[in-house]
Amino acid sequence: MEITAAIAKNIGTELAVELVNLDEPQANEILVKIVSAGICRTDIDVRDQYIKTPLPVVLGHEGAGVVVKVGAAVTKVTIGDHVVLSLSSCGECEKCKIGLPSYCIQHVALNFGGSRLDGSVCLHNHEGDIHSHFFGQSSHASYAVVNQTSVIKVSQTADLKYLAPFACGIMTGAGGILNTLKPEPGTSIVIYGMGAVGLSAVMAAKIAGCSMIISVDISEKRLKLALEVGATHVLHGDRDDLVQTVLQMTSGRGANYAFESSGVKKVMTSALNVIQENGICILTGVLPAGSTVEFDAWNLLRGRTIKGSIMGDCVPEIFIPKMIRFYEEGRFPVDKMMKFFSLEDINTAVTESLSGETIKAVITF
Ligand SMILES: [Zn+2]
Ligand SMILES: [Zn+2]
Repeated sequence: MEITAAIAKNIGTELAVELVNLDEPQANEILVKIVSAGICRTDIDVRDQYIKTPLPVVLGHEGAGVVVKVGAAVTKVTIGDHVVLSLSSCGECEKCKIGLPSYCIQHVALNFGGSRLDGSVCLHNHEGDIHSHFFGQSSHASYAVVNQTSVIKVSQTADLKYLAPFACGIMTGAGGILNTLKPEPGTSIVIYGMGAVGLSAVMAAKIAGCSMIISVDISEKRLKLALEVGATHVLHGDRDDLVQTVLQMTSGRGANYAFESSGVKKVMTSALNVIQENGICILTGVLPAGSTVEFDAWNLLRGRTIKGSIMGDCVPEIFIPKMIRFYEEGRFPVDKMMKFFSLEDINTAVTESLSGETIKAVITF
């Protein structure tokens, strides 16, 4: 069938919105009419080839839509179901079996390979084949043929327009708190970087019952939003006395927890220095492979933990519906950080995401 898709053709150049041909779903695949699709930093990093997926490719790894057709072997959804499209996993390996599909042994091939595991693609145009199946979906398109492991059935009552970012950015922030960290009620946490991940972490920390939630960012606009969604205190990230200030705010001992989402080296170091003895620091921000971050080894010796977290350390099929329930109950106001664009305006959405003008850009169809 003929669909409209945004194609990343060359390193660093604008995405091309064009008509392309989409093949029929195979036995384990699902044809989804896309209603909304988020733009995440990973899409832009692949366009710019900081992360390697072969070009030309249709990106998009936060999809939401309606099931139109199912392959012969698919039993998890039927036509008309509302679905969110998240990461793809094999379902068979040790990590998948223990409920950590973001560490699946096939993670790179299934999500960044630009094709099915057998090397075939489902998108073509007059110039030839286009790489597909990015995160099992390639959802920057009006329709997508999706690997069934990426498909999560969700509530029919929630507006699909708002659900796409639950698939990655929101899941990374909220899951980093509720699954990786699991803070006890009444504890203190410092959350760095008020993008989609950090703001979702703030909302999740409030749900978890943290009594002191300190948000750090360099944008006053974002700090204001952080206060609206659950932060109890905000601090400007440029101040030199940031660590000292947090220590003063927490009886001189430091916070129970820190959560880092900016991916800036010196911010990571700061996050490691604001936690108290036996405290835990979660890192979700992305630095290029091989990067190193400095920390005081004595500080670490005093019982502190540094832990990375990918895509919220969750089983998306369980965690995404749970987050949507929080959203429908009004406890998780993630729509406050979204701005909507048409597919034709996807390059504006990318530019505004990079400049920070827009926190969470979502393409609607
Ligand atoms: Zn993402
Ligand atoms: Zn696996």
